[in-house]
Amino acid sequence: MTNKSKKQLRQEAIRAEIAKRQSTRANLSPLDRNQLLSLVEYVGKNIIENGHENNFQFSAQWARRNSVDLEKLTDFLASERINDDWDLAVGCDPFDLMGESEDRLSWMPLDQTELEDLLDWLDEAVQERGCNHDYTLSKEWLSNNSADTATTLMALMAKGGGCDCEIVLNVEPENIYP
Ligand SMILES: [Zn+2]
Repeated sequence: MTNKSKKQLRQEAIRAEIAKRQSTRANLSPLDRNQLLSLVEYVGKNIIENGHENNFQFSAQWARRNSVDLEKLTDFLASERINDDWDLAVGCDPFDLMGESEDRLSWMPLDQTELEDLLDWLDEAVQERGCNHDYTLSKEWLSNNSADTATTLMALMAKGGGCDCEIVLNVEPENIYP
């Protein structure tokens, strides 16, 4: 006999169902989680640096460079309702889709201390200097801390951080690091 509550049992069932879906998906995907991460980071960086045109232009470049069959890749992405590079960058978290790793529950190029430093710094900077509804302050911190600015901004944007103040409000380290 166990003393698990109904709530615990329900949570276990949900976790088991999520794990099952992640493994089914991993079997269908032509990419493993690390390749998917490399794709998402490549596409995210390019969207921030060059803009996007509602197509798979950057995914196609990545596929060519990595000898991945683009049609198989876009078929898989379509099955996840990802229909262009933008969808991929904001809605295709490799850890959500295929399961967490030892050090990530979801996509974030910064490590935990770096992200916590950024959030603390931004919190004060937004209060002192205000948010222009862009990434002025975040870009300043990222370039002063030698982070990959474009890739990191895309990851923050994918987590609801649409500008400096939204990063402070919406990005939660406890949802990113185990
Ligand atoms: Zn703002």
